[in-house]
Amino acid sequence: MGTGPADIRARLRIPTGAPDTTLRQAVAFFRDQTPPVAAIGIACFGPIDLDPASPTFGFITTTPKPGWANTNVVKPFRDALGVPVAFDTDVNGAALGEHTWGAARGLDPFVYITVGTGIGGGGMVNGRLLHGLVHPEMGHLRIPHDRARDPFAGACPYHGDCLDGLASGRAMAMRWNAPAEELPPDHPAWELEAHYLALGVVGIIAVLSPRRVAIGGGVLQHMPLLPRVRRRVVDLLAGYVRAREILEDAERFIVPPTLGADAGVAGALALAQAALRRDRSGASAAE
Ligand code: ZN
Repeated sequence: MGTGPADIRARLRIPTGAPDTTLRQAVAFFRDQTPPVAAIGIACFGPIDLDPASPTFGFITTTPKPGWANTNVVKPFRDALGVPVAFDTDVNGAALGEHTWGAARGLDPFVYITVGTGIGGGGMVNGRLLHGLVHPEMGHLRIPHDRARDPFAGACPYHGDCLDGLASGRAMAMRWNAPAEELPPDHPAWELEAHYLALGVVGIIAVLSPRRVAIGGGVLQHMPLLPRVRRRVVDLLAGYVRAREILEDAERFIVPPTLGADAGVAGALALAQAALRRDRSGASAAE
């Protein structure tokens, strides 16, 4: 609870258990705050339903996470607290946090990619979070996979060797039979990882033309990979995208998130503030 990353007044971390227990604990935390919360922002793992007109708005939809498929995340907060509730993906939340207070203040298109157990990406375009038919699934980009260099079939339960299936922390642990944090700095895993992340970034550059890309998440906390990713991105673009920002200033184009592990929390606060503004402008329009 708070008003921004510099003003987080209370914080609770709950291990993800069964949906009803976990959501009940989260709701209780907010219900017990004094002064009471004015709005709630939820930056949630997905896939989720973001369409306000849909009967399953506010639900987690098809997750392989046991017990969480078809869970209504928004309703318990709305029912218990009676305040505006904003709902978005965890990575869109982090993108909004970095756009509001962090690595890309006021700069867009901007993309935030997290490389942890899984890979996800969120984006800001024209000052708004990127939504669409559903929401972006940048972690599941299909990227070239050279099976002679890397025979690992991939770890994504849906696609095998998509970006998430080849480069997530889960994929690294399966390919090398050791978690990323145990792989030494000279292990070939890291060059391959930088190559796959660069392929993902190049795909995103081709579609969204971002002005900045932030890459964070647990895997990059073990190994400072960004210099290698920057070099690979420039190589893979092969002289076609001739932006000075990428070719000469890559340190400012591909960056670490400046809010670190708080990017998602900050994003949730920004989502809540936006929900409150919408609610107030709707109320004054109705008067
Ligand atoms: Zn996938």
